[in-house]
Amino acid sequence: MSEKLLVIGESRDGSLRNVTFEAIATAKKINADGEIIGLICGNENLQEQAQEMVYHGADRVITVKHDNLKTYTSEGYGQAVMAVISEESPTGVIMGHTAVGKDLTPKIASKLETGLISDATDIEMKDGKAIFTRPIYSGKAFEKKMITSGITFATIRPNNISALERDESRSGDITSKDMDISDIRTVIKEVIRKASEGVDLSEAKVIVAGGRGVKSEDGFKPLQELADVLGGAVGASRGACDAEYCDYSLQIGQTGKVVTPDLYIAVGISGAIQHLAGMSNSKVIVAINKDAEANIFNIADYGIVGDLFEVVPLLIEEIKKI
Ligand code: FAD
Repeated sequence: MSEKLLVIGESRDGSLRNVTFEAIATAKKINADGEIIGLICGNENLQEQAQEMVYHGADRVITVKHDNLKTYTSEGYGQAVMAVISEESPTGVIMGHTAVGKDLTPKIASKLETGLISDATDIEMKDGKAIFTRPIYSGKAFEKKMITSGITFATIRPNNISALERDESRSGDITSKDMDISDIRTVIKEVIRKASEGVDLSEAKVIVAGGRGVKSEDGFKPLQELADVLGGAVGASRGACDAEYCDYSLQIGQTGKVVTPDLYIAVGISGAIQHLAGMSNSKVIVAINKDAEANIFNIADYGIVGDLFEVVPLLIEEIKKI
């Protein structure tokens, strides 16, 4: 049976986030012979973004343009997504497990009285059914889940399922859908971003995270330099945020962001369980701590026991030579 899956794209500053392409790859895995429909809501660059979705594997893309979709609101995006679902009747809806994905998908799934599998890190097919793997108990265990009836809604954790190779020879229809989204109660007038410019933490392949051991706001400067030479982003423990060394937007952990980079360098972080909840699934973990007994070494692939103020500059110097 030829099925249709809908992938809801997510953009930032007019460009699609990489997790959108990972969502398309997930949909392709579930629905190799069926149709993958992309959906982009917004008010600028929709054609370019739709084209990128096609290059990454979407068979067809629907764009919904409206000034009230410039910035995400659950009401505005909800109306657009519901209209597309009712028109297209997809068998599944996939989106990134981002702040937007976490907010939007449960609302729509509950409206449609169907299930949602959130924060999936892997997917396999068995007897034509999609089985999703997702972490539980703060990443200490994994469960496998499938939805047996209704539309399958799923959000996928960034950086876990590889996107398909971008291929400019791929073609697909791009259609725009006219919708009046003016009747909504919440309109975002302005977005003031606190986070620093540069690589997005939740999608970064390399993260250099600082803890209370960094000791001050200035102590974060060498960490930023290390992140820069590695093309990565800076993150932090809650200890560092509480001490006002950095902004809470950098916090990683149970009550912060959940990240899965290829390389996570924990600097002056003790490795409290709440911090591990946000980073323990990173592919390679390096810990720098002066306390050889620090808990972070229990999950680190590589550990450096030493003073971070000596080790980090040495690392920067050596990496610059490569
Ligand atoms: P510390 O535990 O103080 O560790 C600092 C480390 O730096 C030490 O290991 C020390 O040996 C090392 N160090 C000091 N100086 C140097 C030096 N010169 N060179 C090298 N190493 C040095 N925490 C999070 O991170 N994220 C969360 O999302 C989060 N959520 C929480 C939710 C709840 C409900 C609660 C109760 C707590 C939460 N916490 C969270 C807090 C968590 O329990 C820890 O308090 C916090 O992670 C500690 O931060 P830290 O490792 O930076 O600081």
